[in-house]
Parts: sequence; C-alpha cells; structure tokens
Amino acid sequence: MSNIPEVPGNSREQLASAFRWLARLDMHEATANHCSLATRQGGESFLINPAGWHFAEIRASDLLEVEARGSERPPEIDPTAWAIHGAMHRQGREVGCILHTHSLYATALACLTEPELPPVEQNAMRFYERVRVDCGFDGMGLGDEAERLGRLAGEVPILLLGNHGVIATGADVATAFDNLYYFERACRSYLVARASGLPLAPVSPEIARKTAAQWDKYTQEGAPQAHFAALMRLLDKEGDDYRS
Ligand SMILES: [Zn+2]
Ligand SMILES: [Zn+2]
Repeated sequence: MSNIPEVPGNSREQLASAFRWLARLDMHEATANHCSLATRQGGESFLINPAGWHFAEIRASDLLEVEARGSERPPEIDPTAWAIHGAMHRQGREVGCILHTHSLYATALACLTEPELPPVEQNAMRFYERVRVDCGFDGMGLGDEAERLGRLAGEVPILLLGNHGVIATGADVATAFDNLYYFERACRSYLVARASGLPLAPVSPEIARKTAAQWDKYTQEGAPQAHFAALMRLLDKEGDDYRS
C-alpha cells in the first residue's frame, strides 16, 4: 500500500494552484509562460492556460483542454505554448505535467556560456545528471526549438533552455512543481555563491550521485505530494478562488 499523501482536488484545480503559487513565488513573467497537464494517456490532450491571463488570476475553469495532435492552434493559446507544449506532450508519453517559466535564477543560469549546475549544495545534487540543456536557441520557440524539446521530453525532470528559461516536468502537477521549485532554489544558491567570487566547493561525483539517489527515494515516497497538498491548503485557508 502506498503512503504517498493525497493531493486534494481534481487536475484542473491542481494546475490552477500551480499557477497561483508560481505567481506568489515571483516565478511568473507578465502574462507569458505556460503550464500544461496531460488529460489522457499518451499526451493526446492536455490542459493549458489561455494567453493574456496573469498566473495570479487563473482559475480551474479558465484552463483550456486541447488536442495535442490537432492541426490548428486554438486562437486563445499563445503560439509558443502551442508549439512547445504540443510537441512535448506528443513526444513525451510519460510526461504528465509541463511547467515552463522564465524564473529568475534558472534563467540566469541559462544565460551562461556553460549553463551547468555543479553539485555545490544538496538541492543542486537532486539534479545531478538529471538536467538537459538545449543550447540551440534560434528565436521564440516556434519551430526547431519545440521539436528539439519534444525529443527530450520525459528523459529528465529539468530542461534548461539556453538564452530562454526552464521547463520542469513530472508525472503529476505536484512532482513537476516540486522539481521546478527545487531547481530554482538550487540555481539561486549556486549563483549567489558564485557571485561571491570566492572558490566553490563542489562534492565528488560519487557523493553527488549518492545524494541524487537519496533525493529520488525522498520524492518517490511522496515529498512532492506533501509539499503541494500544503500549498493547496494555504490557498484554501485564504479563500483563494483558484478552484472555481
Ligand atoms: Zn519561454
Ligand atoms: Zn511553455
């Protein structure tokens, strides 16, 4: 029997909660960026935010359900959202949730010539050998970038988009959110440490791998679901209308 904590609400409510929390954590950008959730096995259809809405105002009923293999982009959806999330849901069969942001520290890492996260701190070790970097930025995600990202979908929890931002994935909203949250925190610690100008103290590959395996166990035992359930309780206590 599984001891994984139950995340309250339905999939629309959970995705709406992710938007609200990304806004609260200042991981949004204007009314851009997108988060999506597969609603059928194999990613044939998914929920996504309509263009032009702030993350802080998105409600469960605002989310649009679209066909990943539909040939025409629904007019309410941002073209880059349609291209990137459509390609990733089509090609990444195990990917349930895809969170795409330009959050400050992950994006700052993506600005470096060597956008790597060394194992200098235990949050960073969670992602040791679990990040793929897409370095072929050639404009706003409409063609090649979308197909490249689609091919990487589901291989690792984090895709760092060079010169652009970050995508976190997971089987469910809670897992994808937890991946994005911890990756942003890890980038923050690393870049602040690096900005000190003092020598960094990365651990050995062996210790980094051991710690990453400990993280895998921790997350498989339900830490992301416990985290996300707590976040939803906080919204509910405050009377937030995200579930409507
Ligand atoms: Zn973007
Ligand atoms: Zn997106």
